Amino acid sequence: MTRVITSHRQTEGAGFVVRRPFPTVAVPHLDPFLLLDEMGPVDYAPGEAVGAPDHPHRGFETVTYVLEGETEHADSAGHRGTIGPGAVQWMTAGAGIVHSEMPSRTIQTEGGRVHGFQLWVNLPARLKMTTPRYQEIVAAHVPEATSHDGLAHVRVIAGHALGVDAAIDTHIPIVYQDWTLRPRGTTHLDLADDLAAMLYVFSGAVEVGADAHRVVDGQLAVLGAGDHVSVTSPDGARFLVLAGTPTGEPVARYGPFVMNTQAELEQAVDDFRSGRMGRITHTARRASTLTNASVAPVTTLADRSTEPPPPSRPS
Ligand code: FE
Repeated sequence: MTRVITSHRQTEGAGFVVRRPFPTVAVPHLDPFLLLDEMGPVDYAPGEAVGAPDHPHRGFETVTYVLEGETEHADSAGHRGTIGPGAVQWMTAGAGIVHSEMPSRTIQTEGGRVHGFQLWVNLPARLKMTTPRYQEIVAAHVPEATSHDGLAHVRVIAGHALGVDAAIDTHIPIVYQDWTLRPRGTTHLDLADDLAAMLYVFSGAVEVGADAHRVVDGQLAVLGAGDHVSVTSPDGARFLVLAGTPTGEPVARYGPFVMNTQAELEQAVDDFRSGRMGRITHTARRASTLTNASVAPVTTLADRSTEPPPPSRPS
């Protein structure tokens, strides 16, 4: 383990609160990952739940993993989906997409608990302008496995674990696992040496590696060189394991766009403003998302932006 990052709280989209280990000023990204947000857990009263109405992305992938609640998705490539508890949505924005991510009508009108994750996976230069792609895996189709002693359970979102392969196809090698350890449970993670790897604890506490370094709820541990590590939990825990092949490329970032150069960012802003990333066809949408998205101006260029100033506008 090379470092531990304690997540901070931040408001996103139309005003939902997230726990965010990165990006921060000190840790702008953990190549190939650009952002990890834990949304909630939060209990919304009727009429209180908010999401992220129509906004663009280019140059990377957004991965939504819902633990509780329900998110409704619509995008300019014509994809529609309702992501319920245990389901995964892997959206490759690639060359550009406009999408909305809203709580379901039930959550909006009746309230309810919302808990989940959003991960941003960077794309290497050769894939930044790839055709947008949408993968959605319902909970029942997310592969799962349990250790022989019954104390460790994993849901395999990307990559493989305990002999089980993920259903999701990724552009670059990515590992995304959701582990549950019962008290005194242990797992031995095999992670190829060329992957950048980390784990994020979102319940309880774990002890990592030979030093039994303690990592607690809300902390992200960045793993160092090596191809395996053991994780133990004296009292039970739940954590994500994330790993991927670093792009090793420069990251130019402006809100919802992540490219390699400032000129590419300016092009992205231009393409979005002139409508070349498309728009969501509202006639095909459900009433609940229509209500929110159609009245909300697209002002989310600063969406999830941490530090970079706006690119200079071409004159
Ligand atoms: Fe988004």
